[in-house]
Amino acid sequence: MISSDILARFRNIRFGMSTRHGGVSPEPLGMNLSFRVGDNQKHVEENRRRFFGTLGLDPHHLAVPLQCHSDHVQMVGGAGEYESCDGLITNTADLPLVVTVADCLPVVLFEPEKAVLGHVHAGWRGSARKIVERTVETMRREFGTSPDSMVAFLGPSAGVCCYEVGGEMAEVFPSDELERRNNKMFLNLKKANVDQLLACGLRRENIEVSNLCTICAPDQFHSFRREGNHSGRMMSVAMIVG
Ligand SMILES: [Zn+2]
Repeated sequence: MISSDILARFRNIRFGMSTRHGGVSPEPLGMNLSFRVGDNQKHVEENRRRFFGTLGLDPHHLAVPLQCHSDHVQMVGGAGEYESCDGLITNTADLPLVVTVADCLPVVLFEPEKAVLGHVHAGWRGSARKIVERTVETMRREFGTSPDSMVAFLGPSAGVCCYEVGGEMAEVFPSDELERRNNKMFLNLKKANVDQLLACGLRRENIEVSNLCTICAPDQFHSFRREGNHSGRMMSVAMIVG
């Protein structure tokens, strides 16, 4: 289980992210939490029962975006699946917001005083469209949350050590969010999202960035880049505690 130091400072939020360990699916799926990768449904149900149970959560009471690499963020007040969005926002307590990942970046945004929560799936497409900026802006518009009192956790994802991308990314991301090595281009997805959060007015000291890379830690994480379409999927979950 991946935890966050910065989120752990607050009593009114619960957070956890799965790894590839602790599940019942045959390897290499292990702790796979997605029903959409060809895994046995009963195995996934048991994996979800274990992962969410460890956090004291009911696996049948979750708000889950049906992610599509967009910049659409949805306000939610109840459990269910939400079409065509990659981020959820709520001020409802005891409603877990879930993001599904295998290399893409999960970003938790929390305003502890007003208790407003956002949870975002940020791959390169969503990051290029500035989904975290849209989320911070929506939280401010809907709930009056000030960015300088928000905290953020950026979880394990594809790291700049491994995340090779095509040359066309030079037109999509600023040069200081890309690295050239051996005639190859690598995207620093975490820096891209940190830069966007700073541009929104978050304080650097309120942003925690996991240094873990999902691609080069095969013993810890599933990776779409490493394992392909049928790679297992991890989940990141965050919930306001009422
Ligand atoms: Zn790596």
